[in-house]
Amino acid sequence: MRLPVLDKATREPIGEVPLAGRDEVALAVASARTAYAAWSHVPVVERARLLFRYADALERRLDDLALCVSRENGKTLPDARAEVRRGIEAVEFACGMPSLSMGDALPDVARGIDSYSVRLPIGVCAGITPFNFPAMIPLWMFPIAIAAGNAFVLKPSPHTPLTSELLADVARTCGFPDGLLCVVHGGAETSEALIDDPGVVAVSFVGSSNAARLVQERAVRAHKRVQALGGAKNYIVVMPDAVNKTTCDAVIASAFGGAGQRCLAGSVVITVGEAGDTFPPMLADAARALRIGRGAETGVEMGPVVGDEALARIRGYVERAREAGTPVLLSDGAVPAGGAFLAPIVFDRVDPQSELAREELFGPVLAIVRAPSLNDAIAIANASRYGNASSIFTRDGGSARAFAARIEVGMVGVNVGVAAPMSFFPFGGVKDSIFGDLRCHGKDAVAFYTQQRVVMSRWPS
Ligand code: NAD
Repeated sequence: MRLPVLDKATREPIGEVPLAGRDEVALAVASARTAYAAWSHVPVVERARLLFRYADALERRLDDLALCVSRENGKTLPDARAEVRRGIEAVEFACGMPSLSMGDALPDVARGIDSYSVRLPIGVCAGITPFNFPAMIPLWMFPIAIAAGNAFVLKPSPHTPLTSELLADVARTCGFPDGLLCVVHGGAETSEALIDDPGVVAVSFVGSSNAARLVQERAVRAHKRVQALGGAKNYIVVMPDAVNKTTCDAVIASAFGGAGQRCLAGSVVITVGEAGDTFPPMLADAARALRIGRGAETGVEMGPVVGDEALARIRGYVERAREAGTPVLLSDGAVPAGGAFLAPIVFDRVDPQSELAREELFGPVLAIVRAPSLNDAIAIANASRYGNASSIFTRDGGSARAFAARIEVGMVGVNVGVAAPMSFFPFGGVKDSIFGDLRCHGKDAVAFYTQQRVVMSRWPS
């Protein structure tokens, strides 16, 4: 069976991929295991050299990759280029594996006994990735795993499988040995086959919280390592001293970039005190001005959402909020024909307990909540079941410091609307935004994709 892939802005078919059942998954894992047997003995410096070549080749294919991302995901070309660039940075991080994977040594831990630790590969790792960053999220995973001496089987989202195929093609041209990086396609059943396969030792997952929880439980039952990053609801606190165009632009980019389909999307703005008097109309005007269309077209600022199912889900939230009497500052904007387009929607005076303020809509809908003080704003954000990211906009160092200390998230922005850590830091949240403990990239990823061995040795002197 083959899975057709559509341009999300036009619904034109742009390619197809084969769907993998249990048998195909087993074949991919077997081929990765064969590759692992040899690769795990390749010196880390040589492994790093392959990753240097890969980073260089990706750089040369950046335009093709960005266009592929833009078409199969729907996001704008500048967004897609920025995503690929972030992905390449993760490959560059993986190039540092010789120093990243060094162990410790301590002579004379007891009389005549020396001790040292090493980091070794773990085996065949699996990656299951979402549709919203088809290049960057796979690149958070397999380059680091492979640099650490593992083999990798990747299962991308069925909405956006072509970018993974392209990433694997580029890998082949750089000399990745056969089977070192395998790509299989499908939905939840293909993920399950991959998690269950006895040849897979570790699972990296990024997607919605419900799926993350299921993946984590399934992998743990099979006694496998698992890191599962889930969904998010990110709050942006705007203090009265930061009501200006710069803040407005940053909030708009955070809320509506990628049509709101980012795990770091600031989908709730909490205005503090008199920021509520002037900031909401500024936001509505800026959102109204966004140019919607095909992401690959010059000047377009927002593309469609991923499909009709997502559109219906988002509209459901919007309708229920309207029925509950939530004031609407912006809605019903014109959209082009073709994909699942939705013009920006802004609600004001949103009840902090409502689903609009609490649930992940994953679309171009911004909720404005009013809070009397910074303490109240922090309390509203901290009541969320999620804890991915949160930002504050202020000119006051004391407010920023208090916020960074007390907000319960994994990633904090101070006058930054999308607080995405660079690849040498870990990426991930707390609470229902993560299942498992280690996050993606940074030292967490090195720990996740390696096992430690401690050697104690005694030699007669
Ligand atoms: P999704 O959960 O629907 O799918 C993600 C991946 O999991 C896909 O490959 C899908 O085929 C697979 N999958 C779906 N259900 C599964 C199940 N029951 N068992 C095993 N695999 C399953 O997510 P999506 O719609 O592709 O992506 C959007 C979600 O991802 C949002 O919730 C977003 O917040 C989240 N996300 C989180 C981060 C983060 O860093 N925390 C980053 C990007 C996206």
